[in-house]
Amino acid sequence: IDDKREGKAKVDLKKRELIKNSIKLAPILSLIPGCSSCEEEIYSLSSEKPYVPGAERWHEGEEKYLKSACGQCQVSCGIIVRVVEGRAVRVMGNPKSSPNRGIVGPKGLTSIFALYDPDRIKSPLINRGKGIWEEISYSDAINIISEKLKEKLKEPNKIAILCGRQKGFIKEIFERFAQVIGTPNFYDYSEKSFSTRAILYAMRESFGVFDLPGFDLENTRYILSVGSAIFETTCHGLMLSRSSYKIKYGVPTQRAKILHVDHFYSHTASQADEFIQVKFGKYHIFLLGIAHQLIKEGKYDKDFVREKTQGFDDFADFVKDFAPQRVEEETGVLSKDIVRISRELWYSRPSVVIVDERSTLFTNGLLISSLSLSINALLGNINKPGGLFLVRDISFAPWKQINSNIKGNKIDFSQLPDSDVDTLLIYYFNPVYSEVENSRWRKFIEKADFVVSFSPFMDETSYLADIIIPDHTPLERFEDAQSLSSIPYAGFGLRKPVVTPLFNTKNAGDVIIDIGKKLGFEDEFYFDNFEKAVRERLKNFDLDLLEKDGWWEDPEKKGKDFNKFKFTDPKMFEEPKWVGEGDLYLFPYKSISYAEGSGANIPFLMELSARLKGVPAYMAYETFCEISSSLAEKLKLRNFEDVYISNEKGKIKAKVLIRDGIPDDVVLVELGKGHTEFGRFAKGKGANPRDIIPLVKSQAGNAALYVARVKIEKI
Ligand code: SF4
Repeated sequence: IDDKREGKAKVDLKKRELIKNSIKLAPILSLIPGCSSCEEEIYSLSSEKPYVPGAERWHEGEEKYLKSACGQCQVSCGIIVRVVEGRAVRVMGNPKSSPNRGIVGPKGLTSIFALYDPDRIKSPLINRGKGIWEEISYSDAINIISEKLKEKLKEPNKIAILCGRQKGFIKEIFERFAQVIGTPNFYDYSEKSFSTRAILYAMRESFGVFDLPGFDLENTRYILSVGSAIFETTCHGLMLSRSSYKIKYGVPTQRAKILHVDHFYSHTASQADEFIQVKFGKYHIFLLGIAHQLIKEGKYDKDFVREKTQGFDDFADFVKDFAPQRVEEETGVLSKDIVRISRELWYSRPSVVIVDERSTLFTNGLLISSLSLSINALLGNINKPGGLFLVRDISFAPWKQINSNIKGNKIDFSQLPDSDVDTLLIYYFNPVYSEVENSRWRKFIEKADFVVSFSPFMDETSYLADIIIPDHTPLERFEDAQSLSSIPYAGFGLRKPVVTPLFNTKNAGDVIIDIGKKLGFEDEFYFDNFEKAVRERLKNFDLDLLEKDGWWEDPEKKGKDFNKFKFTDPKMFEEPKWVGEGDLYLFPYKSISYAEGSGANIPFLMELSARLKGVPAYMAYETFCEISSSLAEKLKLRNFEDVYISNEKGKIKAKVLIRDGIPDDVVLVELGKGHTEFGRFAKGKGANPRDIIPLVKSQAGNAALYVARVKIEKI
């Protein structure tokens, strides 16, 4: 049994005895219902464990707890991984890590599922056409990529680099590569249709800072959440969970109240102290009403407004038109509630207004984000305990300066499929699945001359690539773990391998450095490897302490200084745009567990999401058309009946799910299903609502997600 060349793991004596005894007991066990296959099950659980590279270096029964950082999303929570005999078996939260303080969300727990996913790409692959992939060596792959890029460097503007990360040295190394080869076409996470772009752009407009705001949730006394998913999919969920004891059960006179305003009764609504329903697409009017009332009653921080802001007079003029009565007519929120909420915000200070990506995926998401910042500014809570924080920059040491060879202008991301770009390097970006009008992206990637994908999994975009360089999964990788989250103080973690890489995979950073060198840019890519490049940036930090704690946090615990806050420009005002003849609004939303689709290859997350919706686990892989009971009655639809959700773009099939708390003019569809690739667990399950979402650009410049009007047809 102990034959590693055969891919088998060692079995200890106790397990052998157990097998022997179970074989003896098999005739008896087979009489017990459900036990007829005990023999095989025990066997498969013990002696057939997959071989783990490097396991021979572990002592029998050896158990370790290793610090790293979760890489299942960009919050990058600090984690502690239990590793037994070389296998990662459990993920726990690192108490020192500020986004999660010792807890971990379901997606983080399943980092192990991603590591041991049977459909991982196990070696570099070259596409031989007609779905035939051939394994090649790294040196061959790097030679082919370098030769091809050398040809393409004559016209670098025809090369695009898509890097689905917002922060971190891996993004910076790809960006450096773009600068060195001279292409302006570098795109990061903020270009995606499902991203926090509107908030990032609002922060840049208002504070001159291109970063997410931080919120001191542990010390606030009042949270006004407008359409956000603070108890669901964002990092707020973790922060709130760890703060919720204090928030919900603290000393009565001090505990924070959570008021959630949304168009439907979400999981976040169910966790809030109070829920107020607002019409879909009217968050901006609600926020304007709150700003109106605060200014009208003089309930704003006059010192802060005088000393640290600009544009207040224009803003005050702008909000004059949004008196509570008008807001009630447009939003459905009672005027007395507008008055009450604005007073609660003022008298409960420190209080915060929070919007997140879910609140801001309308075409006017920038306006919504900007208004939320303006109300926070009126409350005078900027960089104050319990308020909104500008997160300070972390003083990473720089790499050696390079000269940028970029000439010409960057092509707008949404126009990329119609451009003459014919060469793509793609890292953690899957536009063929995750962008609206994904058929455009499919055609674009199909017709491109040369595409390289750096992905651990065969997702839809990788499937159309010419070469796939399989990246390590996060539990095998060394890199910085800078958090894209709403923690109030600067902090970052260290992501370290907790197991020996299972397959012939490499950190994409190593490969991009090698390609840079092959292209003759040795001076720019002077690093031996990506780990050395990361360590160079971290030389101002006590690395031993960082490795021991797994997380570094700004000891000064203060916000970043800013010049002047700029109130929302009245010219920004616009209503959300809608496309289509249907009489229902399509609201595609991110799953509470498997996100916008990036966790759809993990069955546990799919089934968890179904159970949280009250749907049987065997239906976890269906797409649901979630509607109110009165709409179902009007359309004569029953629960779990098959329907088409359709518009001018096409139709998707779904099962009716009748839920309380959904407006009669809205259809909810969870994002994340309908993969055409991405492994056995995700492929061919359910439908992708992006198939019927037309491309309409948002104020922030990316594709808006809430734009489709649809109808429901019985099948
Ligand atoms: S919030 Fe993100 S980083 Fe944190 S545990 Fe969940 S998936 Fe991992």
